[in-house]
Amino acid sequence: TIDTRPLDVLADFPAIPEGWAYLDTAATAQKPKPVLDAIARAYGETYATVHRGVYQRSADMTLAYEAARKRVADFIGAGSADEIVFVRGATEGINLVAQSWAASHLKAGDRILLSTLEHHSNIVPWQMVAERAGAEIDVVPLTEDGRIDLDAMAAMLTPKHRLVALAHVSNVLGSVLDARRAADLAHGVGAKILLDGCQAVPRMAVDVAALDCDFYVFSGHKLYGPTGIGVLWARGELLDAMPPWQGGGSMIDKVSFARTTYAPPPGRFEAGTPHIVGALGLHAAIDYVSVIGLDRIHAHETALVARAREALSRINSLHVHGPEDSAGIVSFSVQGVHPHDIGTILDESRVAIRAGHHCAQPLMAALGIEATARASFGVYNSAADVDALVTGIERVTRIFG
Ligand code: PMP
Repeated sequence: TIDTRPLDVLADFPAIPEGWAYLDTAATAQKPKPVLDAIARAYGETYATVHRGVYQRSADMTLAYEAARKRVADFIGAGSADEIVFVRGATEGINLVAQSWAASHLKAGDRILLSTLEHHSNIVPWQMVAERAGAEIDVVPLTEDGRIDLDAMAAMLTPKHRLVALAHVSNVLGSVLDARRAADLAHGVGAKILLDGCQAVPRMAVDVAALDCDFYVFSGHKLYGPTGIGVLWARGELLDAMPPWQGGGSMIDKVSFARTTYAPPPGRFEAGTPHIVGALGLHAAIDYVSVIGLDRIHAHETALVARAREALSRINSLHVHGPEDSAGIVSFSVQGVHPHDIGTILDESRVAIRAGHHCAQPLMAALGIEATARASFGVYNSAADVDALVTGIERVTRIFG
């Protein structure tokens, strides 16, 4: 039996009106009141800049900003808050690693290993840096049921591979990577491994030490926090050796026209005034999901996925993509109906899903389709939302007969 009882947190989300099934959390999560309150308090009561002010308000804000960094470190099992770099989001985190670590390490003939199911943000930055370095990109295929094929990866890896970059959870298929095995395989040939944790961090407990990865990135807005704030975690010794990628205020030790020296990490990678309030909002979001418990969130979303897959698979013209045990995300196609039409008709029934290529065009190509319809779950969803989705899809099949 699947336990799809709600987590009873819907009332915390003022932007979700009664009767609206919001099933697009993989794109971005709705915000709970504690996050909204933290943002309002930061701008409305305690606001000042960080790191520079000599007055008390700024010193307090600096403490709050650094406390957010410490909270992130504890949340993902990082050894030290100094290993947490605040960035705009996963996209910027990956670009930072590409422009700093990869650009200074890759030479002609080196190889980077990605997978077929990567989000464009975990493809394009590597293409850009590989092109400049004369490095090559290899692509790990998927298993029949839509997982990154780690047996294939084991066979593909060579000592020429310097970096493996993989999604911890696929934003299209919900497939969960055996990240520890992937890390062991990468390290076996001396490669580093970056995990794109965008879809993992909101729906399962993540411990970067246990995963033994080298870089981990995620976006705050998918974790019920604000947009414009995200996290790059990297092993301390890697960050220490990485050159800065953006120059400006705050990232320096000493500046003169003769010679500029740089601050130690994480400051070295945070040029300019940071997204102070974003960090505070992210802190509140981490507190929020931690009180519910990531294990409970994972079990809840897994139950909703099981209910959805079970009901959807009974619709003849519908095909569900991805593995049975996908995490919080269900992609599907309805024969003869464009995913955008599915999305539009569902919207009339107050069900919000995503339709499109989900920034994963190579995956669409591998599946032999242009786009999918995708339902993704969050803490506020319930069995009633799944049932609304299924009823809506039944209507779609009637309309398209
Ligand atoms: N990777 C994955 C797996 C994602 O789902 C997303 C967001 N759709 C990203 C990367 C990029 O995140 P952002 O746009 O917040 O930088």
